[in-house]
Amino acid sequence: MDDSYILKNVEQVRTQVQRALSRRGRPADAVRIIAVTKSATADVLPLLADAGILDAAENRWQVARDKFEHPAAKRFEWHFIGSLQTNKVKYIVPRFDWVHSVDRLELARALSQEAVKQSRTLNVLLQVNIAHEPQKHGFFADDVRAVAGEVAALPNLVLRGLMAMAPKVDDMEETRHVFRAMDELLLETRQTLGLPQLTELSMGMSEDYPVAVEEGATMIRVGRHLVGHPGGAKEE
Ligand SMILES: *Cc1c(COP(=O)(O)O)cnc(C)c1O
Repeated sequence: MDDSYILKNVEQVRTQVQRALSRRGRPADAVRIIAVTKSATADVLPLLADAGILDAAENRWQVARDKFEHPAAKRFEWHFIGSLQTNKVKYIVPRFDWVHSVDRLELARALSQEAVKQSRTLNVLLQVNIAHEPQKHGFFADDVRAVAGEVAALPNLVLRGLMAMAPKVDDMEETRHVFRAMDELLLETRQTLGLPQLTELSMGMSEDYPVAVEEGATMIRVGRHLVGHPGGAKEE
């Protein structure tokens, strides 16, 4: 199959993002489009970069490792978005610029220790289980303020914001209140703790990113709609 599907995907997602931003009067550069490459092979990397997508995300170290062998991997800022065991942080810290999935204090402490050891600075987001789903990782909203205070004080980590995954629904409108609650939680946490750098809201995936952008997302994590083949052969 020819490679032009990536460029078409990118254009489509960009158009949707721009429309959602302008519906809310948000600036055109308010959202970073992050390509989730977990289900694609490394040869999508130069295609994405050529199309101007310069942020990529992986959710498992074992899969990410192979992507980093590709020369085009250097063109990206890398985001880790999966559940992470503390014994893997030594691999994540040197290769990733962001970790969106900090879901327990123990993990934040391990990342901080490793970042100090490797003289790196890592941007982190707290993962929030905003809809209290039993099968999902993340802090409950009520705990975010206390946790954010502790994480913000850890050396070599910069706490930049919050991340959430919306419950799976058929109609993306049903997720709007969840995204709105995240936006309010971010604002409240930033103000009560006096943390001006707490500006990032990572939310919105292939099925719901337009609503997430309307409700304040600053980073969207798009997999299938960016790297999936139109025919569906490459979709999960
Ligand atoms: C896979 C994944 C995505 C992307 O999902 P799509 O539905 O393919 O867009 C986003 N966020 C996380 C945490 C993921 O694991």
